[in-house]
Amino acid sequence: MKKIFLGAPGSGKGTAASRIAPKRNIPHISTGDLFRENIKKETLIGAEAKKYIERGELVPDEIVIEILKKRIQQKDCQNGFILDGFPRTISQAEKLSKLIDIDIVININVPKEIIIQRLSSRITCKECGEIFNSIDYKPKEDGKCDKCKGEIIKRPDDEPKIIQNRLKIYEEQTAPLIEFYNNKGILQNILCDNINKPADETAQLIINSIEKFANRTQS
Ligand code: AMP
Repeated sequence: MKKIFLGAPGSGKGTAASRIAPKRNIPHISTGDLFRENIKKETLIGAEAKKYIERGELVPDEIVIEILKKRIQQKDCQNGFILDGFPRTISQAEKLSKLIDIDIVININVPKEIIIQRLSSRITCKECGEIFNSIDYKPKEDGKCDKCKGEIIKRPDDEPKIIQNRLKIYEEQTAPLIEFYNNKGILQNILCDNINKPADETAQLIINSIEKFANRTQS
């Protein structure tokens, strides 16, 4: 199944995708992670994307589509994938629909207060992108990733001023995708209004919703 996880920055879509993708044996494709990898490797795409990411702005479509297209053409995507952070605009969704058919869109709906609290305390592994939280989900060893022992950092775009910009852009440009996919009949809403809910429980709620949707569309 080709899936999109939709939600504001900090809604937990990346955390959920990183738990669900291995269970389904499909890749978790985060365009944000692809950009961060390119920035780390100092590629041309990385240098171009960095200018926008640092300001909390969207990277122009030509660059995002190029990087996404290359990734979904890889062999491991044949049985499906989870897209996280793409599409982020109606124009990206339209371009995506010319490349592939999406089966389901999970919209992770989280109140704004929780989003701000999460983003301000979010810390991530510089190497593998694993997401932690400095309040209630700290790495076991201080400053080191549980998964790969990489260095734990605060993403530069998780600073308060940049967070505000990213949320504004989400409201203006990404939230209209909810109606776009609802009109196509493939949207499933998941409400996450409890900051203390363990990530595994949220992931299970999403899995249940995907299975229910799949049973309904197959019967
Ligand atoms: P994320 O890790 O999904 O929060 O993405 C981090 C940053 O990468 C975003 O704030 C954007 O600057 C950029 N980015 C990621 N995905 C996209 C996309 N689909 N379109 C435009 N910019 C993106």
